[in-house]
Amino acid sequence: MKYRAIKGVRDLLPPEVNLWQEVESLTRRFFASYGYREMRPPVMEFTEVFSRSIGETTDIVEKEMYTFHDRAGRSITLRPEGTAPVVRAYIQNHLYTLPSPQKYYYIGPMFRYERPQKGRLRQFHQIGVEAFGEKDPRMDAEMLDMLRGFLERAGIEGLTFEVNSIGCEVCRPAYREALLGFLGEELGSLCPDCLRRYRVNPLRVLDCKAEGCRSLRERAPRIGEYLCTGCAGHFEALRGHLDALRIPFRVNQAMVRGLDYYRRTIFEVTSEALGSQDAVAAGGRYDRLVEEFGGPPTPALGFAIGMERLVMLIMERRGVKEPVPEVYFVTIGKEAEALSFRLASEMRGRGVWVELDYSGASLRSQLRKADRHGARYAFIIGEEEISAGVVRYKRLSDGEQGEVRIEGIYRFLGVE
Ligand code: ATP
Ligand code: MG
Repeated sequence: MKYRAIKGVRDLLPPEVNLWQEVESLTRRFFASYGYREMRPPVMEFTEVFSRSIGETTDIVEKEMYTFHDRAGRSITLRPEGTAPVVRAYIQNHLYTLPSPQKYYYIGPMFRYERPQKGRLRQFHQIGVEAFGEKDPRMDAEMLDMLRGFLERAGIEGLTFEVNSIGCEVCRPAYREALLGFLGEELGSLCPDCLRRYRVNPLRVLDCKAEGCRSLRERAPRIGEYLCTGCAGHFEALRGHLDALRIPFRVNQAMVRGLDYYRRTIFEVTSEALGSQDAVAAGGRYDRLVEEFGGPPTPALGFAIGMERLVMLIMERRGVKEPVPEVYFVTIGKEAEALSFRLASEMRGRGVWVELDYSGASLRSQLRKADRHGARYAFIIGEEEISAGVVRYKRLSDGEQGEVRIEGIYRFLGVE
């Protein structure tokens, strides 16, 4: 074959695509009751939108972005995540002038140049939300409540919710110093990447997936012991609200997340059923980002769900049921062909899935095709049926046969 798709991207085909549609429609319905409205930002932005916000020393910016120069020589990047574009759009469109909080969701493809494997693609999809203008920890709890409710309705069980607070610009410097001190004694265990960047961004080491760096996590100083009163109070209140909403969660003090813009609350939802790429969703607060982008000071938070992983979990639990045609017309003779052609148009207009056979092949061969399409009924029309004003039906699951008058077709199909 002459052309193949790029490595790490994939064609999304039926019947799996039916599950994607289900998930998307659940998103729209469920998020609406929490006041979220859809935003559709572009899939590309100027590179700085990402490099400044996600952080120059993060995995995403250092090695995962699809960046190119356009014909005018500007550096453009295919979005690796959705928060930075939404923040850019929030400011550019003056959405901060609307009553707060402003809550938005998006659904769409993201691009990261990673090593493709199970649960890791180069073009993947996220459902994400961002809420602007509310600093109260009840907003954090409300967002986790929405995420929990959504995943529950999607039919997924056995998820672990982990939360942590990574402090703010007040308390993080002291923690950073403590971490630098600790890592300075352990340089031999660090991977080359972390060795290079531990001075610039020591928190990154805690998010590194290399064996040596991971092994340090348990012994490293804990951010929880360094939180300022504001951050500690926020985190304590959040835990209380999560308890009040009966959201089962675990505090994971070693979690830091791979993007620089987070402060205070961060969280991650994982499933053992996913194997080593076990995160289904992740997010947190980014109270300073809007301001850093040139907007007014605006507390904000958000999360993103990985759609491939979500769909994988749903598939494992209940598979996909492929929809089938209701009726497959099997006709003998020109008159029957003409009649079925007209009837099919009417029936389709009423929402019935009808297939026609243009082959002019034998009755037997048309019936075989009806079967291969998985149709519920074959509607058979020949000369006799035409003169009697009926169609003969055959239910393909059990072979039951009978006749219906043409006027009675819709009652027969239950769509009158
Ligand atoms: P991971 O730890 O798996 O690398 P991440 O921290 O890079 O995840 P986020 O940037 O938080 O991921 O994105 C949110 C979600 O998007 C992840 O929890 C995951 O479900 C999904 N995701 C991230 N990267 C990919 C990818 N390359 N392929 C498929 N899904 C992905
Ligand atoms: Mg990643």
